[in-house]
Order: sequence, then C-alpha cells, then structure tokens
Amino acid sequence: MKYIKIVLLIICVAVLGGCSMNRMQEKTVFAMDTVMTLKAYGKNAQAALDEAQQEIYRLDLLLDRYDGEFGELNFVPEVQVSDDTAELVRLALEMCEKTDGAFDITIAPIMDAWGFYQKEFTVPSEKQISSLLEFVGYENIEVNGNTLFSKNGATLDLGGIAKGYTSARIREIFEKHDIKSGLISLGGNVETVGKRPDGREWNVAIQDPENSEGYIGTVKSQNCAVITSGDYQRCFEENGQKYHHIIDPDTGYPAQSGLSSVTIISNDATEADALSTALFVMGMKKGIDYWRNNGGFEVIFIKEDGKIYITEGVDFESEREYEIIEKRPDLK
Ligand code: AMP
Ligand code: MG
Repeated sequence: MKYIKIVLLIICVAVLGGCSMNRMQEKTVFAMDTVMTLKAYGKNAQAALDEAQQEIYRLDLLLDRYDGEFGELNFVPEVQVSDDTAELVRLALEMCEKTDGAFDITIAPIMDAWGFYQKEFTVPSEKQISSLLEFVGYENIEVNGNTLFSKNGATLDLGGIAKGYTSARIREIFEKHDIKSGLISLGGNVETVGKRPDGREWNVAIQDPENSEGYIGTVKSQNCAVITSGDYQRCFEENGQKYHHIIDPDTGYPAQSGLSSVTIISNDATEADALSTALFVMGMKKGIDYWRNNGGFEVIFIKEDGKIYITEGVDFESEREYEIIEKRPDLK
C-alpha cells in the first residue's frame, strides 16, 4: 500500500511539473522608466525570461543618458563605448539621416530644459530654447569603430530607440531558447514571437489616446513589433496647455503635428521605435510620404480629433470608423 502511494505521488509530481513547464511563464521588470512584461511559452521559458531580464538591466545601465557609456559626452568630446552602444548609435544616426532630422538623438538639452529627465516640468523661455537648439544636430555625432565623437557640445538621448533595440535583443534571446510563443511588452512597445499557445495570432491592442483604460482596436500580429509613440505617454499641463515628450528638433517644442499617436508595425523593432517618434514629429502628410517612399512597415495614425487612419497592410480590427491609406492611390 505504502509503495502504491509513493508511485502515485511520483506520477502526480511528474504530471504537475510537466504542466507548469508548459504553462505561459511571465515576468515583470521595471527598467528604462517603464513597466515591462515578458511572456514565454515552452520548456526553456523560465531560462529565456531570466536571461531577458538580465539583458534589460544591462542595456538599461549601458544606454542611460547620464550614467551610461556615452554619458561622458556631457563633459568630453570623445568616448570609447562597447560594440552594443556603437552599433545602436550607428543605427540611430542612420534613422536621423533617413528621416531628415525628424528623429534626432541630440535632442537631450531640450528634453532637459522641459524637465522631462528630472520630472520637474517647466515651460522654458523662447530665448532658452533657441540658445539650446544650437547644441541640437545629429550631424555633430560621429561613430568610428568603438569611438563616439561629439562636436559643438552635442549630447545624446537614445530614449526614442532604446526600447525597440531592447525588444529586438529579447527576441533574439527567445529564439536562442527556442521559444515558439512569446510576448515582449515594454510600455508602448509590443513585440510578438510566433503565435499564441492556442495557435491563434496575437491581438495587440492600440491604446485610445483619449482614455488610458480604453483602446481603439487591435492589430493581428505574429513575429512582429507594434510600437506606439503617443502624446499621452509622458506629458504635463501648464496654464491649460498640454506639453508632451516628443520634441520637434526644428523648434525645440513638443511636436504639434496634429497627431495624438503613431503606431508602427514592422519586423524590425529598433527601426520601428525610431520611426514611431519620427513620424509623430513629421505629421500625417509627411509620414505617409515617408511610408510610400520607404516601405517595409505599416502605420496607424490617430489624429488629435480622434480620427483613425491605417496604411493598407495593417491587419486591423476596430468598432471605430477608420480610413485606409493606399500605397499607390493613382493605380485605382
Ligand atoms: P518614443 O516614446 O519612442 O516616441 O520616444 C520619446 C523619447 O525619445 C523621449 O522621451 C526622448 O527621450 C526622445 N525624443 C524626444 N523627441 C525626439 C526626437 N525628435 N528624436 C529622437 N528622440 C526624441
Ligand atoms: Mg520611438
């Protein structure tokens, strides 16, 4: 009898153990000023999540604007960095050029003047902004091997691209651990790995800029990054006027492009992150031109008046009305 009980116990433990290994494992991490949620399904899920967490902490330290590897640029014009940082700055500079400076990683002094770093918000004077704009210009940054060079006192802020890069790195870790189904959610940045464990595609909800609890629709996604920049993500109000964290590098003021949010859907999370920021600054007309001329990604624009526009390749479901933007309207 005792022997039978022990055998039953061993079978139970084995079955339960097997089940828990095949459950969706989840981890919440706070880094880069963001609550991050990671989900992974598969027998190596826990190991993948643990490694992903370590990688997030490592990149958070490495890419910190002040304490990270390029923080020294606040004091000296030349600094040695690791391969990771050099690679990311190179990618970021490419995006600055491609977007004709709508994305500009030297926006740091302006962000600082508005108090976004210290979270002590203030509206700077026009004079202050125009004097700080002299330090803004990605042309002042150069990468040569592992050395970053800064001219004219330019300093870096990789906040517009770092989370996309981090997401791409986590995806690599998931792939290494053979995770067939996973979700990487870093604030407004979501990346899906494979399909859901039940075999259906992931549905990524797109937040309603007017209502932090609600969403305007969902995007079907499989092995894809869905990355949103919105005027509601980091902002403050003064004298009835709202000021947000996406700065137009031409003016030094929060971009007033008529948009409330831009979502980019792409296989390349790093590029998608830079693009969500850049297209927000450009506004809809220039953003659509950029999409038509470059491609390789899809976009959801939400205007300040609540109207929704999606490019033709978005697999979108919504109860709200929306308009579809065609790639070649002339071919109709
Ligand atoms: P995101 O949430 O990806 O749109 O990134 C916004 C963050 O990127 C801000 O918090 C700043 O750190 C930085 N940023 C703001 N404006 C720009 C800009 N025009 N180009 C590049 N980075 C920016
Ligand atoms: Mg971005």
